[in-house]
Amino acid sequence: MKWPEDHEHQDLRSGVRQVCSNFPGAYWRGLEPDTYPTEFITAITQAGFLGALIPEQYGGGGATLTEASVILEEISASGGNPAACHAQMYVMGTVLRHGSAEQKQQYLPEIAAGRLRLQAFGVTEPGAGSETTRIQTRAEQIPEGWRINGQKIWTSRALYSDLMLLLARTTPYEECEKPTEGLSTFLIDMRKVEGITIKPIKTMINHSTTEVFFDNVVIPADALIGEAGKGFRYILDGMNAERILIAAECIGDGRYLLEKAVGYANERIIFDRQIGSNQGVQFPLAKAYAQLRAADLVRFDAAAKYDAGKSCASEANMAKLLASEASWAAANAAMDTHGGFGFAVEYDIERKFRETRLYQVAPINNNLVLAYLGQHVLGLPKSY
Ligand SMILES: Cc1cc2nc3c(=O)[nH]c(=O)nc-3n(C[C@H](O)[C@H](O)[C@H](O)COP(=O)(O)OP(=O)(O)OC[C@H]3O[C@@H](n4cnc5c(N)ncnc54)[C@H](O)[C@@H]3O)c2cc1C
Repeated sequence: MKWPEDHEHQDLRSGVRQVCSNFPGAYWRGLEPDTYPTEFITAITQAGFLGALIPEQYGGGGATLTEASVILEEISASGGNPAACHAQMYVMGTVLRHGSAEQKQQYLPEIAAGRLRLQAFGVTEPGAGSETTRIQTRAEQIPEGWRINGQKIWTSRALYSDLMLLLARTTPYEECEKPTEGLSTFLIDMRKVEGITIKPIKTMINHSTTEVFFDNVVIPADALIGEAGKGFRYILDGMNAERILIAAECIGDGRYLLEKAVGYANERIIFDRQIGSNQGVQFPLAKAYAQLRAADLVRFDAAAKYDAGKSCASEANMAKLLASEASWAAANAAMDTHGGFGFAVEYDIERKFRETRLYQVAPINNNLVLAYLGQHVLGLPKSY
């Protein structure tokens, strides 16, 4: 299958693919339903890819977001699942942009060196999904620092992370002029505090996601990132990067699924001819290819704008929307092409089918992306 990869990134792509070649489909299948890919994470960290976005002055790769997105795309395109590590790449962005000089010096070199994991991002709560400002986890200021009480849900990789970036309310919702005020961001060293309970959630994909309970957890004053009350803005700041990176993962998933499907459609002989010679098989694959290519252009446009320091919220949102729909089109076409064998675990189609479905729901639901575009780009009334 032809994929006009950006030639400037060929070395980077082949470097990532080289690491991934030691982790074939059998490796990822063997981890199901819920084993964390520790060997892969160690290898990709040691190769320097997970510290790519950390500036060189802190020992990281100093890569652009475009380059970081290429890394995640290639992991997906190799058949791997970067969801086990993508947060390590971008959650640190909040520390980088809003942390103090001391916080950056304390954490970023350790994260870049792979000695410290910042993989957990605690925002969503059972009672506050897409409506983030309704979170109820509370951080109260006390003489020793802050005391945290509450519950998070879908905090992925918390069991495999040393640090967690937490969004908590420091001023009750009712006392704030705007719902987005009174929220604060904390960097919690989970190895050093008591009162945190983490419970895995069983899901249809291998995602190491959890519920996290905070019971009078005392954290030091210097765990606060930036100013108290401004946490919602800090989290929003990181969302464009996250959406562009997720879009790239979807593009990688779509490439993987299409490549397998095209190979199968060319080989499989039914009624004395290749199944790919039937339009009913060929056209959905061709359509998914066109959708992926279009989404990829928006993804690179969004990433280029981000790297140039230009506003890119609409492009980042569109990239995530289009890429998650395109990879899902590829997943469905690949399932149909494989017929019954699409359901056989050893073909990896059903695994990627499940994995790529997530991105229409998380990190933000596509309905909320459409609501953003409707309101902020088209100038329509707020729909919620
Ligand atoms: C595997 C997995 C991993 C995750 N990892 C993390 C993580 O690491 N950290 C974290 O903080 N969160 C994480 N999440 C949470 C994820 O971000 C949320 O699931 C997502 O934001 C949607 O929230 P919700 O599930 O509560 O859905 P809800 O907000 O309850 O929405 C349910 C449905 O209603 C629709 N809906 C709601 N309101 C509107 C509206 N006004 N207009 C149109 N449609 C609407 C939604 O689009 C959706 O289809 C993860 C989720 C999953 C499944």
